[in-house]
Amino acid sequence: MKEVDYFQVQELLSEEHLMIQGMIREFINREVKPFIDVAAQEHRELSGLMLKLGAVGALGSYIPQKYGGAGLDQIAYGLIMQELEAGDSAVRSAASVQSSLVMFPIYTYGSEEQRVKYLPKLAKGEWVGSFGLTEPNHGSDPARMETKLVKSGTGYLLNGAKMWITNAPVCDLAVVWAKDEEGKIRGVIVERTMVGFSTPKTENKWSLRASMTGELIFNDVYIPRENVLPDVRSMKGPLSCLNSARYGISWGVIGAAIDCYQTALKYAMEREQFGRPIAAYQLQQKKLAEFLTEITKAQLMSWRLGVLKNEGRATPQQISMAKRNNVNMALQIARESRQLLGAMGIVGDFPIMRHMMNLESVITYEGTHDIHLLITGQDITGFSAF
Ligand SMILES: Cc1cc2nc3c(=O)[nH]c(=O)nc-3n(C[C@H](O)[C@H](O)[C@H](O)COP(=O)(O)OP(=O)(O)OC[C@H]3O[C@@H](n4cnc5c(N)ncnc54)[C@H](O)[C@@H]3O)c2cc1C
Repeated sequence: MKEVDYFQVQELLSEEHLMIQGMIREFINREVKPFIDVAAQEHRELSGLMLKLGAVGALGSYIPQKYGGAGLDQIAYGLIMQELEAGDSAVRSAASVQSSLVMFPIYTYGSEEQRVKYLPKLAKGEWVGSFGLTEPNHGSDPARMETKLVKSGTGYLLNGAKMWITNAPVCDLAVVWAKDEEGKIRGVIVERTMVGFSTPKTENKWSLRASMTGELIFNDVYIPRENVLPDVRSMKGPLSCLNSARYGISWGVIGAAIDCYQTALKYAMEREQFGRPIAAYQLQQKKLAEFLTEITKAQLMSWRLGVLKNEGRATPQQISMAKRNNVNMALQIARESRQLLGAMGIVGDFPIMRHMMNLESVITYEGTHDIHLLITGQDITGFSAF
């Protein structure tokens, strides 16, 4: 289908960016789009997904090649997320978590031994990682977490529980955030085989059905000292991971929005009612025109954010604004385009309802829509309203 690029943002991309975007799009068209509806209906992951994502360089794209990453810039990372989410938010979530929430903290705060041990396997998708921050009693306020890391012999004992964790049931390792005896936030790498560690699956989701979600439960799990991330002792650790993932989400959801827009446009041109294509009626044109306007604004925002991020100048507050705006934009387009398809909008023959249901999670995770608004409010006024 024709590129959705009303303001020629593609001209701002390098040849390498365009090549990577094309490669990931081709991967999604071949490996994801033909199979994703059935996987989502059956509430299971696409088989072999992580290995396939690793093979196309979609895991840890900005991690240096020395550690198995692709050493690409932040715009390339954004474009990869966009093309993955045009397939399904579950596929983008898997790559986001592995890249920004697992590989990023190990690369940024880990020891050289930890980098060498974990990053190449994570980049290939041979190992699947998860990220444990949210707890049953602490979602938007993770700094009040209750999971505890207490010294024991030459290592530590980990106790507590994390909830709503992407890939928990299938992870080989988890980067987990816990409070030490001084109340400082520490990051630890918990391996699947550690005694006292379990990962029950969360069933019956209506959203992100092709992504496994679950709990991480720690019952006196012994953590050797070499599994503690040495270079972080505060909320800066998990928040910096979230910044990286939220930035990727701001791009990713543009992919879902474009998939809905293109589906709706094609349908509107072909579907005739009252003797004319529904695309000829003003009400449907209003929808399509607004979809394209909102997609264009989101593309420009994420592209500019990517430039700032490449220069090390993107602020967490700018990232909050882009995540909030773009996810809401995609969700509204999914909801409106579902209506444009009439009854056809509710069946799996078209991707819209699946995108819509997925985006109901994306608007909540990685900071809710409301919390991101309060972050902008705080930035403008200096008053924290949360
Ligand atoms: C599918 C899925 C996957 C996820 N994956 C992960 C993962 O991999 N790792 C991880 O750690 N977490 C994960 N999460 C958890 C997610 O980050 C949390 O759900 C999110 O941070 C919100 O927390 P909560 O659900 O506890 O909502 P709450 O914090 O209880 O919020 C409930 C409502 O209250 C509002 N609210 C809260 N505080 C305030 C305030 N001060 N002022 C105004 N309104 C307020 C919120 O905006 C929200 O609308 C995932 C969630 C989902 C749904």
